[in-house]
Amino acid sequence: MATELMRRAVIVGPRRVEIEESALPGLAGDDVLVRVRHSALCTFEQRAFTGADTRFYPLYGGHEMAGVVEATGPQVVNIKTGDKVAIWAIDRCGSCYSCRRGYACENVWFKRAGGEKPKGPMGPAGLATHKLAKEYQVFKLSPDADLLEASLTEPLACVLRSVNKANVVAGDSVVIVGGGVMGLLHVMVCKGRGAQVIVSEPHAGRRADSLKFGASAAIDPNAGDFAEQVKGLTNGRGADVIVVATSYVPALQASFGALAKGGRVMVYARMEPKGALLNLDPNWFHDNEIVLTGTISTSPIEFQQSAQVVSSRALDLRSVISATYSLDEITPAFEASVDLGTYRVVVNP
Ligand SMILES: [Zn+2]
Ligand SMILES: [Zn+2]
Repeated sequence: MATELMRRAVIVGPRRVEIEESALPGLAGDDVLVRVRHSALCTFEQRAFTGADTRFYPLYGGHEMAGVVEATGPQVVNIKTGDKVAIWAIDRCGSCYSCRRGYACENVWFKRAGGEKPKGPMGPAGLATHKLAKEYQVFKLSPDADLLEASLTEPLACVLRSVNKANVVAGDSVVIVGGGVMGLLHVMVCKGRGAQVIVSEPHAGRRADSLKFGASAAIDPNAGDFAEQVKGLTNGRGADVIVVATSYVPALQASFGALAKGGRVMVYARMEPKGALLNLDPNWFHDNEIVLTGTISTSPIEFQQSAQVVSSRALDLRSVISATYSLDEITPAFEASVDLGTYRVVVNP
């Protein structure tokens, strides 16, 4: 019997991606082998592809994926061969303070293994025909879940964490700053919670798209004073929640002037340039009962919540998928993903 092979993409340098072939791994303990059907290209991989982030070469990219379970290790209890699943590729030790409080784990795996960082490629490795995961990373979906939509379980989980932390409730006026794919997922979730949703986005095409996704208005932050535009759409009150889903520090700074009393600002994106500072009067927090917070990645609770949203097909996640490519078309897929005219680009290994 010929050994079965798996194929996976390795980003080896700026705009250089190779497909590597290897034998399928053996399974032990609580390992789960998933046949990956769809793997979405997120900002992390896009930055490695363009060379904006050169820290991780060679990188096994792909952390947003869904597929079907092909085999399970002897200690796996909740997952069965043939199950449709989404994978949370980020690994967790499960026992550090941060894991127990639902934050990103403090212990990367090679530290736990007591070893040196490996010399070969490392990374979430979802841009592949097969993904080996631990059972705790595998989230079971309903049999009629759409696996293409399910490739967005991870980004949706990040958005659910953001919206939960910002405590968006019915009747809130929410401004989403940035109409990219994460902004649009925020629009869908906040709209579903009964909020008035306004998108702020300089790109006209993206402004128009955000209205189709449920925003009641879309403003151009360069077309006049941001705070005045927000107040004009909220009976002069300002926004109850502003989610900053762009890395542009002046956009974050401008959001503070557009808040209602008790307003919450969610720093969703990582801000650039590193080291940039905000200018804020501490009494403004006191007098107006303002909350300023941020979110990074997601937690097992929100990942499970997201898997249930995907299972029930409560949101039309296909609508943010702009194009799909085969694994052999990985380079054109990356090129498409960094084009401003696309939202999520998905690779079908
Ligand atoms: Zn992602
Ligand atoms: Zn941990």
